[in-house]
Amino acid sequence: MDLKTPVGKASGIYKKYAGRLEKLGIKTFEDFIYYFPFRYENYSLVSKIEKVQPGEIVTIRGKVSDIKNEYTKRWKNLQKAKIEDETGTIGVIWFNQPFIPKIMNKGDNVSLSGKIDLFKNKLVMQSPEYEVIYKNAGTIHTGRLVPIYNETKGISSKWIRRQIYKILEEHKQNLLEYIPYPILEENNLIGIKDAIENIHFPKNLDTAEDARKRFSYDEFFLLHLRGIIRKNEWGKKTVSNIFSINKFKKEIGEFLSKLPFDLTTSQKKAVREIFQDLASKKPMNRLLEGEVGSGKTVVATIVMYLSYLNGFQSVLMAPTEILAQQHYKTISELLTPFGVRTDLITGSKKWKMKNARPAKLGRSGEKWKMDIMVGTHAVLSEKINFKNLGLVVIDEQQKFGVEQRAIIRKKGKNPHLLTMTATPIPRTVALVLYGNLDLSLLSDMPKGRRIVKTWLVPPEKRIDAYKWIENQIKRQKSQAFIICPFIEESESMATVKAAVKEFEKLKNIFRDFKLDLLHGKIRADLKEKILKEFREEKTNILVSTPVVEVGIDIPNATIIMIETAERFGLAQLHQLRGRVGRGNKQSYCLLFTDSKNDRTIRRLKSLETIYNGAELAELDLKLRGPGEIYGTAQHGLPALKIASFSDFELIEKTKKEAEKIFPELSKFPDLLKKINSLTLSQVSPD
Ligand code: ADP
Ligand code: MG
Repeated sequence: MDLKTPVGKASGIYKKYAGRLEKLGIKTFEDFIYYFPFRYENYSLVSKIEKVQPGEIVTIRGKVSDIKNEYTKRWKNLQKAKIEDETGTIGVIWFNQPFIPKIMNKGDNVSLSGKIDLFKNKLVMQSPEYEVIYKNAGTIHTGRLVPIYNETKGISSKWIRRQIYKILEEHKQNLLEYIPYPILEENNLIGIKDAIENIHFPKNLDTAEDARKRFSYDEFFLLHLRGIIRKNEWGKKTVSNIFSINKFKKEIGEFLSKLPFDLTTSQKKAVREIFQDLASKKPMNRLLEGEVGSGKTVVATIVMYLSYLNGFQSVLMAPTEILAQQHYKTISELLTPFGVRTDLITGSKKWKMKNARPAKLGRSGEKWKMDIMVGTHAVLSEKINFKNLGLVVIDEQQKFGVEQRAIIRKKGKNPHLLTMTATPIPRTVALVLYGNLDLSLLSDMPKGRRIVKTWLVPPEKRIDAYKWIENQIKRQKSQAFIICPFIEESESMATVKAAVKEFEKLKNIFRDFKLDLLHGKIRADLKEKILKEFREEKTNILVSTPVVEVGIDIPNATIIMIETAERFGLAQLHQLRGRVGRGNKQSYCLLFTDSKNDRTIRRLKSLETIYNGAELAELDLKLRGPGEIYGTAQHGLPALKIASFSDFELIEKTKKEAEKIFPELSKFPDLLKKINSLTLSQVSPD
């Protein structure tokens, strides 16, 4: 057995537990030692028995002079022991652990760590951590900083600790250093053997901190390197035909002049950057990042038009049917006058919409012959083959998995890839996550946009708020979204039920208006009808689960009211409020929460004054940690083991170091091996 051996291939208990261990991400013995504790229990204060004080957390060492099981009247059982050292004797008590007297016998030398209590005026140690001391062996579970690991059913932290201790005893010497020595030295980092030892069994909090520092460095350094390698790999691909730009200046100019608006400065810049990529023989791999409403669709449309002019097909993939339908509408309206044929394909069979039909694929194996295909993940279907796919656009790319992004790309010969996202992402996260991509930012909003006035409404003002909404809708002839209480991450029947209930309640409140309900379980054709009626102002209020989060564009809607706001990340709330404020009327966002928690209230109130998505994402990062910035079920996020996305300095430093070493990477085979062993979940999108 060596560190690369899968636990399932080992004997006995490991084999038996392989399934459970996999739940913790432990597949090999190496994974075991890279399974880090999330905190330490400090049991390092060792005390003589006569010195212990009530309330103290201490470790005592001594001989078992008595130990037994005791059954009480109420069918409970206790384990009672007496421990003595050269200064005295102390009673110990456990509850419902009848196996303890089998592990510790009278006469054994033991070490116990736990809290000293006063019971009937006598000192006792209650439910301590315990272990028998064999000859000269050190202690693992007591008398030191004891690592605490995340557990899973059937696998305790104590068990994990014992295994790691054993594995380290046997294999620590075989651990190979993969970070080049000069980097360790320059950054004051400890070597891998010490780091592994000290992350699990530190002598004190300082050595634990040294280990944490070393592995935080590793984590970012390796992710950056991985990104750079991938970018470099991508750069070796070549497209089937280089796009010509100069040849179509006139056509593009004409298209721009027919737009109902002028492009913003950053839209122009993004188009320039993209065109530059397209003029190269290596395929573009660019992320277009811009707040909701910043106008990414029109940028993508221009690019798809250029692709068409160059004789290539394009595909635009969006994460929801609603979005796909909306994109189809926008793009076909803009491009049909220029002779571009656009088609829509979604998973729903009951598709009915004027001028649209399911993409005509003809007989199986036949290639699709129109110019632009807009669709949901349905475009990934094996049945869909392109004649000549030159450009792939993925909207809200974070909603797709690595594999889905790969499948769509394979439908062409190294097509250009433009991914888009409105997820406001702190700069630090972007540096790590998107190291392999080129980035274009839409940093300014289209002219005339006003900020969405936002209030956190106290519960006692709810009725007033409903009245206010009613008046606004009547006076401004505008419309409102009401986002239902958020119940579960994935939209299940419970969410739907709650939404229906909320809808019935709201219908009673807003009797003068027409209300409609939208949730994830509604059939696609109905969804489209509901949205169409809302867009055509036949409906005044659209009650919805958070499915409207992504992308939909209804300029006449000026109010969004959000229930259980505390369950969303700030960036997510910002995205939700981006559903309004898309036209030129003043728009409003009303947040509701039942939370009385000060911190929650303050967190939500920050939306009243901060209108910048990235800033809100940073704030979330600080207040709630990285897991929360992205909200519901997102793909492609590297799960940091130990480092923190708020460690800006380290992210920048490791990035520089990674860039510096990259050209000489072949000189460091162990480092390369380590990078290649990073699992897929730690890898950013293409
Ligand atoms: P997002 O970036 O969130 O995808 P959209 O592309 O849906 O934003 O654009 C939001 C709205 O802004 C659309 O109605 C679009 O027509 C409009 N828009 C886009 N660019 C401009 C611009 N430069 N000036 C005015 N309106 C614009
Ligand atoms: Mg969009």
